[in-house]
Amino acid sequence: MGRVSGDRQFRSADRLTMDTVDKATRSRIMSRVGQKDTGAEITLRSALHKAGFRYRVHDRRLPGSPDLVFPRFGAVIFVHGCYWHSHGCYRSTVPKSRHKFWTDKFQRNQSRDKRNIRLLLKSGWRVLTVWECVLLGKNAMPSHEVTRRVRTWLHGTDAQGQVSRKPTRGRNRDGLA
Ligand code: ZN
Repeated sequence: MGRVSGDRQFRSADRLTMDTVDKATRSRIMSRVGQKDTGAEITLRSALHKAGFRYRVHDRRLPGSPDLVFPRFGAVIFVHGCYWHSHGCYRSTVPKSRHKFWTDKFQRNQSRDKRNIRLLLKSGWRVLTVWECVLLGKNAMPSHEVTRRVRTWLHGTDAQGQVSRKPTRGRNRDGLA
């Protein structure tokens, strides 16, 4: 690259700062991985509870500890954070710095999601994924609309479904469905 040493020094100092910032940001964000009772989840739970649905939460005996379990319907619901689960919507951008670290991490999350869904389906569960962006933020659906979609799916026969605004694209182009 033929850089002069001053430039190189600047670059490594710059990199050091970036790493420090990243480490702080990363541990803050990492501490949220696998966090339960997120805002999105509470929103969905209270809407469904008001609509008369009863469910178990965070059943650790099942693959991926589904957020809501409806034994009567033989169904589980995952409330997926768009960022961690690579929805492909406006809430799921990949950080510019340490790009590879993040893409790898997101890919592992996606593989884990797919594996959990596969295992659940194999043991006869029906699996619905409700994306965070339909519950929170600028594209959120009215809660009665989310409830209507979940109710329709629960009473239906589809083994798998999603409550999402748009078909997923971007880094989750495979989709989870
Ligand atoms: Zn989303």
